[in-house]
Amino acid sequence: MSTVASSVDWHARAQSVKKIVHPFIEGEFRPSKCGKTFPKINPANGNVLANVAEGNRDDVDAAVRSARRAYDDGRWADLPASQRKAVLLRLADLLDAHREELALLEALDVGKPISDALNIDLPLSATVLRFNAEAADKVAGSTVDADNRTLAMCVRIPRGVVAGIVGWNFPLALAMQKIGPALATGNSLVLKPSELSSFSTMRVAELAIEAGVPAGVLNVVPGLGATVGDALAHHGEIDMVSFTGSSATGKRLMQAAGASNMKRLLLECGGKSPNIVFADAPDLDAVVDGVVFRMFWNQGQVCTAGTRLLIEESIKAEFLDRLISKVSQIRAGDPLDAATTFGALVSRPQLDKVMNYIESGRKQGAKLVLGGDRILEETGGNFVAPTIFDAVDPHMTIAQEEIFGPVLSVMSFAQVEEAIIIANATTYGLSSTVWTKDLAKAQRLIRKLEFGEITINATERPSPGATFGSMPMEPHKQSGLGIESGIAGLESYTSIRSVQIHV
Ligand code: NAD
Repeated sequence: MSTVASSVDWHARAQSVKKIVHPFIEGEFRPSKCGKTFPKINPANGNVLANVAEGNRDDVDAAVRSARRAYDDGRWADLPASQRKAVLLRLADLLDAHREELALLEALDVGKPISDALNIDLPLSATVLRFNAEAADKVAGSTVDADNRTLAMCVRIPRGVVAGIVGWNFPLALAMQKIGPALATGNSLVLKPSELSSFSTMRVAELAIEAGVPAGVLNVVPGLGATVGDALAHHGEIDMVSFTGSSATGKRLMQAAGASNMKRLLLECGGKSPNIVFADAPDLDAVVDGVVFRMFWNQGQVCTAGTRLLIEESIKAEFLDRLISKVSQIRAGDPLDAATTFGALVSRPQLDKVMNYIESGRKQGAKLVLGGDRILEETGGNFVAPTIFDAVDPHMTIAQEEIFGPVLSVMSFAQVEEAIIIANATTYGLSSTVWTKDLAKAQRLIRKLEFGEITINATERPSPGATFGSMPMEPHKQSGLGIESGIAGLESYTSIRSVQIHV
């Protein structure tokens, strides 16, 4: 379902594309109760794209009331699962039908290349939604062999009203990670997109009505984390919060759940992923391609980005030369130019944060071998050159903290054990990649690396179906809590009710 982006004048379309700015409650857009707005800045040139409604607690209350009514009267939860499936599949078809419009909104909001938005983000989003839709009637309970006079069984029921709170790096795909499983299992949802990227989510709320999702089942409240996010986190009528964002906010949500109604939590948070290259890795050029994609895709703003490159000493010099040569060819440019493969960072604060990390790498003695500067400043956009630090000590700040930008830390190791120790020396446990032809070594690493996801020899781009849909993902350590994706991920949106029928 990929489209060649070059046949379209994206700048002309950007002038006319609808940028929705109001909360979506009970099936309609409504002005926010407080009437305040905040400017959404174009990451590529610093201009205001739109003034977005700053939802507040009253908007959250209205959205939660709407979702609760919809859940309680069974307009969605009581439908046969096959009907929910059909509606959600129609919504996936609408994502395909509107893919150019939605991709444009993603590129404008995030500063990502339009070609990536069209050829990666959109198919990924539709894939996630289709997986969940198709699995709607495949979530099963169980029976227990108690005795011959008792029918003992566990049934799965929706949790009720779910709040989805998501970040900005893949706005539509992250929204689909919440809409898909929450609605497939019969819940009602109040979704809060990031204040940096709400356009595509608001448009999808409208498309959901067109697909046949009843009013009230999907509500969207835009706004800030400190107001809308906090109100959802503490709300007594919300049964579950499903979150994708930073570990710091994830921890706040745990406190809020404890301070309010002990709502269930699903937390998908940050990462500092190791990419371990052994001397016996297959085809070093293909490995370089894989390392570059895993690090610099979306300008490094990916939770699973391979930001720590661990290279076996015997091939380090040669591998690093090839890597630098490849990364030097990346040209940053206008996200709306179809030839661009590397765009802008999402916001000025994000740019400042990344530049501060680069400064900290320099000060702590890492060796800057590529990039390190702001580029294309004349555009007014948030562009940073792809950056590589060599000779990074695993304890340095740039090797420990999630930078969420195009900054790679290179380290080396002599033996497998050393690689495992360095790789695990982080508070995060999201994702890891290993490059080796030796399956026995790979098997050992699968057991020892403390990450929810381990990819061996990722010479191909990650399969959207596998990594972002059908495979369950359980973040380890401070990368999150609970299971997202796959059938196990769908089950996270249900409670088990234990039933005994005495006959
Ligand atoms: P963030 O934590 O700043 O914000 C995420 C969402 O939480 C936003 O909607 C924000 O408004 C809201 N929020 C902020 N403060 C809040 C509060 N006090 N109460 C309730 N909600 C609040 O994260 P971000 O900068 O938007 O996203 C980047 C982070 O997301 C990175 O750490 C990245 O690794 C992570 N991420 C993880 C995954 C994953 O699947 N594990 C995927 C994408 C991004």
